[in-house]
Amino acid sequence: MNTIDLKLIDHLPIHLEEGVLYVSKEFEIAGHLCACGCGSKIITPLGVNEWTFSVYNGKPTLKPSIGNWQLPCQSHYWIDGGKILWSYKWSEDEIKAGQLAEELQRKEYYEKREQAPIHKVSIWDSIKKRFSKIWHNLF
Ligand SMILES: [Zn+2]
Repeated sequence: MNTIDLKLIDHLPIHLEEGVLYVSKEFEIAGHLCACGCGSKIITPLGVNEWTFSVYNGKPTLKPSIGNWQLPCQSHYWIDGGKILWSYKWSEDEIKAGQLAEELQRKEYYEKREQAPIHKVSIWDSIKKRFSKIWHNLF
């Protein structure tokens, strides 16, 4: 399979057709059958920390590449302008590195999210401190 069509949908259908990229913008998810023809369902969440989806002339592009290292076929390809661009096969080291990088990225993302409110509090505290100093100087 060397090309992929785009189908915009609300919900992912249970049975996916080969050569079709199903995209639900509402649920920020895309799904397709592995381009190697093995029949595996590939679900790619869309978002800042996941895959970016774009359309040009009705042809879909997904970034970054689809790396199916968890599948027996271990296929690796790009969906670029409705075309399947095959990438090199993953080596075992790369698979490990890829999984690790993904894990770290996720961890970092969620840690940042968790830290955000604490950060806000500390800014507020420093404002309060500064304010109380001014207050003291006034009186
Ligand atoms: Zn496959």
